[in-house]
Amino acid sequence: MSQPSRPPSIIELYPEETRKAASLLKQAVPLMMRHDIPPNPVHYALWYTYSRGSEPELNRRMDKAVEDFDVFPTETASRLFRDYIIRGELEEARAGQQQVIELVDDIEDDVSHSVIGSQHYQQSLSQGLSALQEPIIDDLPSVLNDLQESTQLMQDQQEKFLYRLRAAQQEITHLRGQLERAHMAATLDSLTRVFNRHAFTRLLERALAESQQGLALVILDIDHFKQFNDQYGHPLGDRVLQHVGQLLRDLLPPGAFAARYGGEEFCVVLRDCKGFSEVIEFAEQLRNKIQSLRIKVRRTDQVLDSITASFGCAMAEAEDDFESLLTRADDALYQAKRSGRNQVHPAKSETMLSA
Ligand code: GH3
Ligand code: MG
Ligand code: MG
Repeated sequence: MSQPSRPPSIIELYPEETRKAASLLKQAVPLMMRHDIPPNPVHYALWYTYSRGSEPELNRRMDKAVEDFDVFPTETASRLFRDYIIRGELEEARAGQQQVIELVDDIEDDVSHSVIGSQHYQQSLSQGLSALQEPIIDDLPSVLNDLQESTQLMQDQQEKFLYRLRAAQQEITHLRGQLERAHMAATLDSLTRVFNRHAFTRLLERALAESQQGLALVILDIDHFKQFNDQYGHPLGDRVLQHVGQLLRDLLPPGAFAARYGGEEFCVVLRDCKGFSEVIEFAEQLRNKIQSLRIKVRRTDQVLDSITASFGCAMAEAEDDFESLLTRADDALYQAKRSGRNQVHPAKSETMLSA
């Protein structure tokens, strides 16, 4: 069970479906409005995470910032974003965040100029109206002239503002793409497109901190994979791993997540399981699908013998932490290997429960 881990990233940390994400955003936006917080990507990310409640320490610090300052200072937002959203690992994103903040500041400047322009306009307009009410309207041409000048000034400022707004939109789109790519690269295993070990560790720790109720861990390890590599070569072995990754992604029930924990070892975390039989059923389904994979050697069209995998399953218990849950599932996997491979084995406590 050993593989070097990579730094974590963002996109996988926000796995909510559209509806859930929209409802979180609906909670976040009024909170931002209540505290007069400018709507920029950094603040959205922070208040979205706040509404999600997945980082209790972040919520505590945000509550404190709002309480202490009655506003939400930009430096505090930057620091919290770095510590809890990108966790200081993505220099690129940090630079991008600064760019966005600068752009938003520029736009704020332009808006205030526009406001001044409209104040001028309002003044000229009220002068114009009072001149029109005078019986002698000799002044009218000069009043109209003033009005025209103020209107021109406003128009110029609004055009400038629009131009900057468009530039900001483009920049934000570009930065969002960069952020997503960086986060993808940091949390996903590049070969199998499931989470890498580092992201998995964080996600499982977080899931356990939220609730052990209905949480289950399935570990699977491909059988005799060394032999497979020796016989067919490493590139074909890589293709097997890719197929297993694809199967995992296809079969994941809602709320579940999968990761490549080591070389040919994968983990799946299931949530909201009603009972252990549901976990076993899922693992059995996966075992069957893996066994049914038909891998072809492209060059010769030869179809290879079945690939099989062994499984260990454990349900989280009240006192479980990451280590204890992983150890129980891993022990069960070891039992599955010892009992002849290509089978699903429950962890000890589950065996006793069902006995
Ligand atoms: P067991 O049934 O007991 O699990 O036997 P095994 O051969 O699968 O287990 P072992 O731990 O002896 O070997 C694991 C093999 O997995 C060795 C290594 O070559 C292979 N492997 C690990 N990572 C990769 C990878 O990224 N690509 C390929 N092709 N093979 C990998
Ligand atoms: Mg193996
Ligand atoms: Mg192994």
